[in-house]
Amino acid sequence: MSSHRPTLFRSFLEYYRPHWALFWGDTACAIVQAGTELAFPVILRGLADGLFSDGSEAILSNLWWICLGLVFMYAVRYGCRYFVSCWGHIMGARMESAMRRDLFDQYERFSFSYFDRHNTGDLMSRLVSDLFDIAEAAHHLPEAIIVCTIEVVGAFVVMFLINWQLALAMAVVTAVLGYWCLRVNRRMKRIFTENRERISDVNSQLEDSLGGARVVKSFANEDLERAKFGRSNDAYLGSKEAMYRAMGSYQAAAALLTGALYTIIIVFGGYLVAAGSMTVTDLATYALYVSLFTTPLQTLIDFTEMFQKARAGFKRFDEVLTTKPDIADAPHAKPLEVTRGHVRYSDVWFSYGDDVQDTHKAVLQGFDLDIEPGRTYALVGPSGGGKSTTCALLPRFYDVDRGSVTIDGQDVRDVQLGSLHRAVGLVQQDVYLFNGTIADNISYGRPDATFEEVVEAARKANIHDFVCGLPDGYETEVGERGGHLSGGQKQRIAIARVFLKDPQILVLDEATSALDNESEHAVQESLARLAEGRTTLVIAHRLSTIKDADVIVTVDGGRVAEVGTHDELLARGGTYARYYRMQFEGDRG
Ligand code: ADP
Repeated sequence: MSSHRPTLFRSFLEYYRPHWALFWGDTACAIVQAGTELAFPVILRGLADGLFSDGSEAILSNLWWICLGLVFMYAVRYGCRYFVSCWGHIMGARMESAMRRDLFDQYERFSFSYFDRHNTGDLMSRLVSDLFDIAEAAHHLPEAIIVCTIEVVGAFVVMFLINWQLALAMAVVTAVLGYWCLRVNRRMKRIFTENRERISDVNSQLEDSLGGARVVKSFANEDLERAKFGRSNDAYLGSKEAMYRAMGSYQAAAALLTGALYTIIIVFGGYLVAAGSMTVTDLATYALYVSLFTTPLQTLIDFTEMFQKARAGFKRFDEVLTTKPDIADAPHAKPLEVTRGHVRYSDVWFSYGDDVQDTHKAVLQGFDLDIEPGRTYALVGPSGGGKSTTCALLPRFYDVDRGSVTIDGQDVRDVQLGSLHRAVGLVQQDVYLFNGTIADNISYGRPDATFEEVVEAARKANIHDFVCGLPDGYETEVGERGGHLSGGQKQRIAIARVFLKDPQILVLDEATSALDNESEHAVQESLARLAEGRTTLVIAHRLSTIKDADVIVTVDGGRVAEVGTHDELLARGGTYARYYRMQFEGDRG
């Protein structure tokens, strides 16, 4: 933990680097501001001394100069305050924006397995609330530390020069309370980290319940969701209460410190004045400096909360940034060159998560398949047999544990991911449409496509006529996650997207019973057109697709059980024949 701290701090400092001019401007202004604070009691003391020694005549003759000096000092102070508060905040906001961009870039680099392990709500928390806290601290902390330190040290030095005995007595009290604050501070570090985690849980729970709103409603499980949310909300409240308890002790300590310092001044200072070792003017100046001493001390204490919050947030930020994406371009990676579209799975072993060592639990156990170019291979078999996993390995959403997946002889791990993803097109059951228009969603397949190309893709995907019938045509907003469109329409937009991308290799996860007959037919037709001339791997759920496929592959227990045409496999009377009878005998009419 302690060995981690310097690197954490250093990576935080890195974000100041592009803003060094603002940072130093901010710092200089903060120093000048603190200087003016310190000067004020000294000026007052000079005035009082002059009054007693030279009389009011001398003061009156100098009053204009004093007035001019004060106006100048406050004008400078005003300018500095403006700079710190305006440009300091802007610097913080720019740092926050840079961190947010870095975090988002990093999220984009992660593979599926990262998202399997992390909840979206948690990832969003890191991107939004954590970073906000960090930005606040990034701006306020250096300024607060500089101003307060100058004020505290400066005030102490002046007090020491006025009367060293009294100053030492105050230093002892401050040191004792300071030590106590440090101890509370250590406890606060833990509390703030926990607090960050709890708010993240609340966000995750919210994301889950809102994301699954349809499921929640359809099962009438609002009470269950309320209870789950209530639990994370209560845990968050608990961590906040712990935080405020710690803050309470802290604030009380600050109040105690002020009280103790004043008591010392009155009692010990009174004694020193009575004993003739201090003048009344000195004692009055002292009292003025005490507030200059305690106010920044109080501010420093207040900033502990901000510092601890930011520290906890930055730690979570740094955690993501220092996680190495498990799937990335190898140093020697070359662009994939698809010549024919020949795909080969050779003795592939694969496990999700931590089961890698346990080969009995592996999802794929020596999966072996040769997929000839330009042909359609239908994967069939029992649910959980490993069909989707097989497909996910081709675009390298996950890496194999053993064996290899190759495209035209090139291992997918040795080619550049971008080129691989351009070569492999994907149509999934669960279509994801982005906020935006239908045209935006189709051109997502190739953002530089012309409108004519978008229309052409929509025609091929059997969706053009439907789109033209909408009042805004291609400019129709699809609504959040495509909520305004039916399942079949969404599917066909997704297919148009892939038509535009025009990949040489296709992976299709066929939509199942979610579609009505008419949509099913339209989707089916556009999928068949899409597959023409491309090497296609389809997870088939429908009899028609299975029959039309060039080759049928039964996948069971993470292996290929049989390979052949529909008629061959039926004649063989093995796994496929059994599966076929179970699934489709009733459908044939
Ligand atoms: P199929 O497509 O044939 O139904 P899958 O490839 O989806 O089979 O699943 C194979 C096995 O892998 C199942 O036991 C499933 O629970 C598991 N599995 C699938 N996806 C994940 C995942 N993201 N994380 C962990 N286990 C998974």
